[in-house]
Amino acid sequence: RAHLAAIEALNPRLNAYISATPELALAQAEAADAALARGEGRALTGIPLAIKDLFCTAGTRTTAGSRILGNFVPPYESTVSGNLLRDGAVFLGKANLDEFAMGSSNTTSAFGPVENPWKREGEAETFLVPGGSSGGSAAAVAARLALGATATDTGGSIRQPAAFCGIAGIKPTYGRCSRFGIVAFASSLDQAGPVARTVEDCAILLGSMAGFDPKDSTSADIAVPDFAAACARGVKGLRIGIPREYRLDGLPAEIAALWEQGMAWLKAEGAELVEISLPHTKYALPTYYIVAPAEASSNLARYDGVRFGLRENGEDLKDLYERTRAAGFGEEVRRRILIGTYVLSAGYYDAYYLKAQQVRALIKRDFDQAWEKVDAILTPATPSAAFGRDEKQDDPVAMYLNDVFTVTANLAGIPGLAVPAGQDVKGLPLGLQVLGKPFDEETVFAVGGAIE
Ligand code: GLN
Repeated sequence: RAHLAAIEALNPRLNAYISATPELALAQAEAADAALARGEGRALTGIPLAIKDLFCTAGTRTTAGSRILGNFVPPYESTVSGNLLRDGAVFLGKANLDEFAMGSSNTTSAFGPVENPWKREGEAETFLVPGGSSGGSAAAVAARLALGATATDTGGSIRQPAAFCGIAGIKPTYGRCSRFGIVAFASSLDQAGPVARTVEDCAILLGSMAGFDPKDSTSADIAVPDFAAACARGVKGLRIGIPREYRLDGLPAEIAALWEQGMAWLKAEGAELVEISLPHTKYALPTYYIVAPAEASSNLARYDGVRFGLRENGEDLKDLYERTRAAGFGEEVRRRILIGTYVLSAGYYDAYYLKAQQVRALIKRDFDQAWEKVDAILTPATPSAAFGRDEKQDDPVAMYLNDVFTVTANLAGIPGLAVPAGQDVKGLPLGLQVLGKPFDEETVFAVGGAIE
């Protein structure tokens, strides 16, 4: 009830939820009370969560932040949200996001932008973005409108909003969480994960969300370890890689200082710092912004006005498709479909898509080689703190540059954790990122726990 009251008071301003579901939440909470009274409490019994509106929830509208799914009520539950329900969680509602999870500022949602609850010192009027695409999830947790939330990360959408909102978030190894029932953006990059106020809360939530699912052919049949126990392991004797190529030209001094501070903390806790090279880092953003739109253009072909969601009637079938898609998709989604269609088209496929796939393999190989020398890697999570709503909006490339530290983990399929670690000169939160070996989230949590 406290969370529902907080949502009622603050959501009109923050817009973190597209749909609050108070009746459902109260019914689930009563069931949780009854389960506890019977001595049948589970890992998350009664824990109130926000669910990113990209996860299908049976009987509750799931929009993906798009007009084209504005009236879509799924008949089934995503595996990840179903796992949380199995463990007793209470769902407060569906969290806002960039349309189809495309964006870094939660300004492309058809349901309006999300406001970051944080303010620059002395600038109470400036509307700051919460990051994206999981901006609603991160803002809800930061503003105490949920204890934790589900999110997804295709190129940084868990880690960047977590960093902008001063909370923790992990993108696990590709295959750790089932993608069944999550609206697809770029299937070879998409992963679900939690955002929460602490690293340990993320570990507890991930423990419920993760696990093999025969309904997702890319789901990994690997046991889910006790992530929460790993958070307090410490870093004594661990080798932490510091990648030379992440010292970008023009990296703001406060981000460089945050990174140095993180290194000093880990060293003081007994870790060994090792300089490493990830030589193909400079190709990561261009590679990502070919692979992700290519897969998106293919995935979004299903929104044709016939099978689900919005339908605008036309004179014939082609006219129906065109009117539906013109009315249903926002500007950024159209841009991605156009880029994706272009890079996959005959004549350009080899030069763009195939080349990007080859470079992706090199980026992955850089990490494979690094793991011979180090147990985890430390980098900044983002190149800046949260920015204003009106900044970068008319420059897609400036927006894409936000993802410079995060996209490599998706291209390589490895886990990445954002940990709140400091603040900028205006008092805004800044985050560090811990990258780890495939399926070694435990070490990532150990390093994150030591930083926190
Ligand atoms: N900002 C990136 C993009 O716009 C990543 C989004 C995501 O991870 N879903 O594609």
